[in-house]
Amino acid sequence: MYTCGPTVYRYAHIGNLRTYLMADWIRRVLLVHGVDVYHVKNITDVGHMRQELVETGGDKMILAALSEGKTIGEIAQYYADSFLKDEERVNILPAQVFPWATDHIPEMIEIVEKLLAGGYAYQAEGNIYFDVAKFIDYGKLSRNFGGDLLEAVRVEADPLKHDPRDFTLWKAAEPGRDVKWASPWGEGFPGWHIECSAMAHKYLGEKFDIHTGGVDNIFPHHEDEIAQSEGAFGGQHVNYWVHAQHLLADGAKMAKSSGNVFLIEDLVERGFDPLSFRYLCLTVRYRHRMNFTFGSLRASEKALTNLRNRVWDWNSLPQLPNLPPETEEWRTKFWDTVDNDLDLPGALSLTWNVVKSDLPGQAKLDLLLDFDRVFGLGLDQVPTTYDVPQTLMTSLQQRSTLRTQEDYSSADSLRSSVLSQGYLLEDTGATTRIRPKTLLERHSERWPSLSSSREVESLIDQPSDLEFTFVLNAYNYVDDVKRCVTSMLHCAEGRSAEVIVVDNGSTDGTADWLEEFQSIHPNVRVFHCDHVIGDAAGKNIGLKQSRGKHIIIMDASTEVVGDLLTPVQQRLADDSVGIFGPYGLSTDDMRHFHEEVEAGEADAIQAYCMAFCREAVQKVGLMHEGFRFYRNLDIDYSFQFKEKGYRIFADSTLPLVRHEHRQWTELDDNQRDELSRKNFGRFLRRWGHRPDLLITANGQAFDTGFHH
Ligand code: AMP
Ligand code: ZN
Repeated sequence: MYTCGPTVYRYAHIGNLRTYLMADWIRRVLLVHGVDVYHVKNITDVGHMRQELVETGGDKMILAALSEGKTIGEIAQYYADSFLKDEERVNILPAQVFPWATDHIPEMIEIVEKLLAGGYAYQAEGNIYFDVAKFIDYGKLSRNFGGDLLEAVRVEADPLKHDPRDFTLWKAAEPGRDVKWASPWGEGFPGWHIECSAMAHKYLGEKFDIHTGGVDNIFPHHEDEIAQSEGAFGGQHVNYWVHAQHLLADGAKMAKSSGNVFLIEDLVERGFDPLSFRYLCLTVRYRHRMNFTFGSLRASEKALTNLRNRVWDWNSLPQLPNLPPETEEWRTKFWDTVDNDLDLPGALSLTWNVVKSDLPGQAKLDLLLDFDRVFGLGLDQVPTTYDVPQTLMTSLQQRSTLRTQEDYSSADSLRSSVLSQGYLLEDTGATTRIRPKTLLERHSERWPSLSSSREVESLIDQPSDLEFTFVLNAYNYVDDVKRCVTSMLHCAEGRSAEVIVVDNGSTDGTADWLEEFQSIHPNVRVFHCDHVIGDAAGKNIGLKQSRGKHIIIMDASTEVVGDLLTPVQQRLADDSVGIFGPYGLSTDDMRHFHEEVEAGEADAIQAYCMAFCREAVQKVGLMHEGFRFYRNLDIDYSFQFKEKGYRIFADSTLPLVRHEHRQWTELDDNQRDELSRKNFGRFLRRWGHRPDLLITANGQAFDTGFHH
């Protein structure tokens, strides 16, 4: 079995681990069936990394390491170690071989030479390309016959290619490149796909049984691997391809560029057992998408703890001479379920049926340990020994003395006192033993938290019982949050107003400060999110929970320095005004937004401070939660108002001060571009065809490059 392994210039996230877990489950099922598995998992190190870094402007962390004098090899080793540790933490059996790509350059060159000799490849200016037209089976895995359309659209089509579908086997080193190797075609570096053909061939031969990866590997990576390997060696490359569907978070594929990545370490820092993530992955079939939430992880942890406690309980039972015959029926059903296209969710629910059945504990234990050979939840590791505090050991002795004195009522009250401390006294024949009531307690949380805006009730269609609601979406930068919250409270003094702060998964002490602050200020309400749920979702929590007639959304970088409420109330008294705020924007092409609106009608109000009536939200709706990052969300929401016929109004004399906007200034250029581009695309797709909504509307649609 060959598994496409990690790229080691960044951490593997739990989405990647879901894919490796699938491979681990396949391997464990085969082992249970007596099939020995030789498992190869490659490590994709440098290779094309340097190039990718140069092109994308570099990853902060890697550039920092490079500037500290670390070599790329050291960086790769660091991430590879961290990957291996994560695999161990989720109980993935280690592959027999973890080959590193750059240790196999000669093997890659050898395959490229074979392909050239066989007429499957051609050379152009030091580059070698695979000639897709020569491989008649191209597309048989992905059913994608049209070529790498994405590549053709995204980057300038490579003029050296005969056909846009052709892909690079070897690329000549450009001047200044430091990671490169000698080859018969001059210095250069390998294409991405060739490494897997080379390593699979070296460790598994020309043909092997199973190849796994994530669904994003199907095309072009695995399609191209088939073309290379079958082109070079003839015959079928792989018997079974198995691809895991993606892990999502907040509805989007978990990926660094979406900003919704979690690492095993993040789960551990929040007090979770990494095996709870393994359990969670058992609950969804590998071929289905799985949306990760902390709520579901909590539920998994609870279930796993429950299972462990039961195993621990059953472990202390005396042996039975025979298990009842139904035991074998359950066992057969279980393995049939597992064998049905790896139906682990089905197998898990069957497991709970066993737990709830009236089989004796000994039979349940026997079955669960058997099932765990595939689950891999470490149920065989559940400890059988435990510590009992000395004071309780003394109670144990006292109680047996009381019993010999036949003072049963004192003995019983001693037992209840022991129980209230979380321990059980069990009389087994002549002796009494003491043990903890449960083996494990679930970790407790400091305060209730939300995993999504859907979890809060919407009060939006209820009558307003206050004049004003301030809403702040807080994400780290505790000093900014303090300044902003204090200024809002000051402004609210003597008015009918409340402050809602949404702690959007802060990790720097903001949450603790808000908890404390809320406890001494009755008109402040705080909602904690158990992770960063994104800007729009955070603001929506505030909108849904607001009770004020007027809502004012603030940003932590903004400070109120005077009476903001009176002008807001006056301006919004005009029913035609939708959003009002100090920082207006205007545009005449939807691409460039200008800040020059000082007073009067605008196309949008910036997120630093935007005020509107709660009643209008009923008509306009909530914010669009696709916007995880704040940028352009304010413009998007302004357009939502305009679409419903409202006007947008700016007045730069409102009493506000803008401070450094650290959510922006602390991003590196690379992140800014990526996040901004995504949000701008979202905005344009929604509103690019509505130039009629602009204050300068001339009724003509702009060519926005996006087609609705
Ligand atoms: P990479 O380190 O990017 O090469 O990815 C390693 C493996 O994780 C590949 O098999 C990918 O297909 C897989 N993968 C990437 N993102 C996800 C995701 N969100 N969920 C599940 N698997 C993923
Ligand atoms: Zn691969």
